[in-house]
Amino acid sequence: MSDSIVLVLNCGSSSVKGAVIDSKTGEVLFSCLGEKLNLPDAFITFKYQGEKEVEDLSAHPHHTGAIEAMLHALERHGLDKKIGAVGHRIVHGGEHFKESTIVDEAVIDNIQKCITLAPLHNPAHLLGISAARNVFHHIPHIVVFDTAFHQTMPDYAYTYAVPFELYKETGLRRYGAHGTSVRYVSGEAARMLNRPADKLALVVAHLGNGSSITAVKNGKVQDTSMGLTPLEGLVMGTRCGDIDASVFSFLHEQKGYDIGEITEILNKKSGLLGISGVSNDYRVVEESADTGNRRAALALEVFAYRLAKYIAAMTVATGHLDALVFTGGIGENSKTMRANVLEKLGFLGLVVDDKLNAEMRFGKAGIITASQNPLAMVIPTNEELMIAQDAAKLAGLA
Ligand code: AMP
Repeated sequence: MSDSIVLVLNCGSSSVKGAVIDSKTGEVLFSCLGEKLNLPDAFITFKYQGEKEVEDLSAHPHHTGAIEAMLHALERHGLDKKIGAVGHRIVHGGEHFKESTIVDEAVIDNIQKCITLAPLHNPAHLLGISAARNVFHHIPHIVVFDTAFHQTMPDYAYTYAVPFELYKETGLRRYGAHGTSVRYVSGEAARMLNRPADKLALVVAHLGNGSSITAVKNGKVQDTSMGLTPLEGLVMGTRCGDIDASVFSFLHEQKGYDIGEITEILNKKSGLLGISGVSNDYRVVEESADTGNRRAALALEVFAYRLAKYIAAMTVATGHLDALVFTGGIGENSKTMRANVLEKLGFLGLVVDDKLNAEMRFGKAGIITASQNPLAMVIPTNEELMIAQDAAKLAGLA
């Protein structure tokens, strides 16, 4: 068995995403995606050394079928015996999990207890864990939670101003998401700046289809923009982010919508898509704005203004700012958005360097400001590598 190879799994209700990663080098040796699970036309696609292979799963269209097919593909490529651990991405660990951990029955119990907080995701993760433990029964399984890194938030940052009993009875509080990504880029920021992580004040903007912003001081999260669910905070692809909660009674009275319909509007029909009427995809909205679409331009401006406002607010949580870090598909690639946001934040001492800003795209990492204190940088995220590293460490491989 190799000493660093991990299978990273991300199980959804109708999909299983897998990657075999060398946790030391970050190299992806094999990847696969099982889709349409629990439907008659379920299938899985494997990628190995640049070659694609598609396999029909209709005879076994469930999670176990997909993971068994994965094992057989790994056997064909001689990779199965090299894998020393399986790392599972889990959306919600509630207050039970402050860090990654090895799966045992008590861990399964606690993931189950968090189902109320992530009713769509955690049941699918549990299915995936159970199937993967059956198929890969000889190696340790490790769970890595999107919420865990945020568990250091102080109570005044995670407490909502609602009757306290509701928190006690139901767990209603801010949890945040994107924690694995934020942990990865925070570590990378410290490494790239050659500064100890426990002496850095960072604001991390993870800007993708889902977007959030997190204040990280001395290696610990102080505050984050996503809340009980990933709906709160920034403007996203289809999510509205912050909004007056009275929108529920207002839209019910004005339009007769019920709770389910309003929840659907706020999660799936709002954000960039809702304002622009064009797309949830930032690039497409940018292209439309460039051709003169004013709603598309307004969507980008609402996005940038909310983001700048949040970055400034997060410096209250960090006390001061050493570095602002952009990551996620939009953060890693859109130089116009970054320039716009940095201009709005000039009063913090951030000054964009146009040449560097244009350079740091498409996977390139580096500083994008002329200012050094504070500075802004771009760091491509790599949640799968973080999961692989945690799994390797806990399984004693690293
Ligand atoms: P993610 O969820 O991290 O994969 O990010 C997806 C988002 O990144 C989408 O809104 C994309 O439009 C955006 N994105 C990807 N590439 C670019 C680019 N070159 N310029 C602007 N936005 C981009």
